[in-house]
Amino acid sequence: MQSNAYKCSCCPYVFKENEINFQTRRATCPRCDAVTTFSRSVVNGSTGVLHDVENAVKFFEERNFESAKRFAESALSVSYDNVVGLFIIAYYNAYHASIKKRSYLDKFFNEELPEIGVDADEMDALKKVLKKCPLHLLDYEQSVLSKVLATTGDERDIADFVEAFSPYIISKRPSIEWFTPKMKEIYKELTSRANLPKTWYALFQQIATNPDSPELENTFYLKTKTARFYNDYVCGVGEIFGAIKDEALKNKFVSAFEKKQQIFVNKMNS
Ligand SMILES: [Zn+2]
Repeated sequence: MQSNAYKCSCCPYVFKENEINFQTRRATCPRCDAVTTFSRSVVNGSTGVLHDVENAVKFFEERNFESAKRFAESALSVSYDNVVGLFIIAYYNAYHASIKKRSYLDKFFNEELPEIGVDADEMDALKKVLKKCPLHLLDYEQSVLSKVLATTGDERDIADFVEAFSPYIISKRPSIEWFTPKMKEIYKELTSRANLPKTWYALFQQIATNPDSPELENTFYLKTKTARFYNDYVCGVGEIFGAIKDEALKNKFVSAFEKKQQIFVNKMNS
């Protein structure tokens, strides 16, 4: 792969790495003078970047963050917007640097990840590291899942990632503030594309266990708060279950939901 990676667009010349300006991904051919601009995928698919990313992921998975950062920096020196490299540096700066700054993660998830045209291989590597630290990524679930929807076609791949990432995050939600109309739509879309029983169960359990739930301490007498929880959250979960495509799973989840909903409504109206 490396031998053909950096080929001149006009003649058979193959560039050496030191002839390429990686800030612009451009190179001028010493043989024919043509200027070639390399795509993100060519640069990210080069042997050096693949090797650095593989090592960065491996060390991140082993929680050796210093080594992961070193390989991430090396990958970024060639591919300046490699998402795995950018994420590992942002994570390092947020949780392991001497002065910890969350703003690096905000920048990665709110500005960089949505903008960069990530290919499937790069996304697979990113998913491996994201799965290792869901608890630190509560605030970024929307950014992560949006990107998964945009880059992952295969049903099994969607399920593998979401089932490893989201149930834990859902179970740790301190309120239902996170369950915005946008998040509900993302869950409906994921549900219509893949079977996510662990994630659905986590959503279902939160009807009784989320700190905002009136079930938790039987606070149904707080009418406004209870109505809001019912309308925003309980009904939202019902909508998501309505999007399940597998008939048997749909029956199972919808019937459990309807029982729960009926009990909730009875308490709400008594
Ligand atoms: Zn040339």
